[in-house]
Amino acid sequence: LNRRLAGFGTTIFAEMSALAVRTGSVNLGQGFPDTDGPEEIREAAVRALRDGRGNQYPPGPGVPELRAAISDHQRRFYGLDFDPDTEVLVTAGATEAIAATMLALLEPGDEVIAFEPFYDSYAACIAMAGATRVPLTLRAPAFRPDLDRLRSLITPRTRLLLLNSPHNPTGMVLTTEECDAIAAIAVEHDLLVVTDEVYEHLVYEGAHHPVAARPGMRERTVSISSAGKTFSFTGWKVGWVTAASPLVTAVRTAKQFLTYVSSGPFQYAIAEALRLPDEYFDTFRADLRGKRDLLGDGLRAAGFEVHQPQGTYFITTDIAPFGEKDAYAFCRALPERCGVVAIPNSVFYDDPEAGRSQVRFAFCKRKAVLDEAVARLKRLA
Ligand code: PMP
Ligand code: GLN
Repeated sequence: LNRRLAGFGTTIFAEMSALAVRTGSVNLGQGFPDTDGPEEIREAAVRALRDGRGNQYPPGPGVPELRAAISDHQRRFYGLDFDPDTEVLVTAGATEAIAATMLALLEPGDEVIAFEPFYDSYAACIAMAGATRVPLTLRAPAFRPDLDRLRSLITPRTRLLLLNSPHNPTGMVLTTEECDAIAAIAVEHDLLVVTDEVYEHLVYEGAHHPVAARPGMRERTVSISSAGKTFSFTGWKVGWVTAASPLVTAVRTAKQFLTYVSSGPFQYAIAEALRLPDEYFDTFRADLRGKRDLLGDGLRAAGFEVHQPQGTYFITTDIAPFGEKDAYAFCRALPERCGVVAIPNSVFYDDPEAGRSQVRFAFCKRKAVLDEAVARLKRLA
């Protein structure tokens, strides 16, 4: 393993999912739903496969039907206009979009300011690009970004701001005011902004505000999303980038040498998914909000300090009420103690103290599974 990747062993998600399987625990660790997405969209994938659409290499930028649907989605939900031919790129999930964007836009030695705790692939992709991550720490209980601190972190080497809202793992959702302030800072310092919005439709309080829609941002923003979370198909790995044409061209240059293309028949199915009526998105969100509340109440009853998330699949808790402070040790022992798996947020921080006692639980599971997890967690008391 080269020096750039030293320290990046197995991802925490793989480690904890393997632990769940090994111990037969309820897995509230890795964020994936235990119910698949809409039947009609699965049927659309089967139809594409059977009709021979996408069984061979799709076009490099993605199939035209999906690019048009992504463009229409951005207009329908956010009033953003992107040319499907030059300003939309289909990727192998948001994961590839993040990797290709970092590899395309960063020079060795560049600095990237990213919210901490950060989704684990950010750190690895910044490192693979030879750049340096500079954390802007989001602190409990509210996890709001400190924008004065953001200003103070900018140096002549700062190349881009890497945003994530709704934010994994904390569930923080940026307000319009915060987006405007971040946009103003980006314009003032001539920075690129990369924004990971995979949880865009999973907002339970307030609304999702795409930073690309803020003044001055369209030309300097790479927006990333994917179908995994919105449609409950995390295994299909259909993601995308929307940005001004020069940025999309740059990202595509890197992307074509990572996977070239992916997910042929699934691209056609997701093109249909993106055109589902508002009712789908509203019902899905309401269902997840109910699950958030169910698990939140259960965690509180079990003795955790709960940091209420405004979005995502996740609830971040603090284990201090149990007289414990090492989240990683806690999560490794949890299957033995009560048969539940969770994720230690501490691994998403550079600052070893900031997230030391935080543990993340996923609520994108069936009600019976959440009930069982809560019953088990109550044994901790
Ligand atoms: N970004 C964030 C914040 C995530 O939580 C995830 C995992 N769902 C991804 C990116 C990766 O998305 P995908 O599965 O589409 O590659
Ligand atoms: N995004 C998911 C999570 O945060 C995991 C994705 C993965 O396993 N890489 O739990």
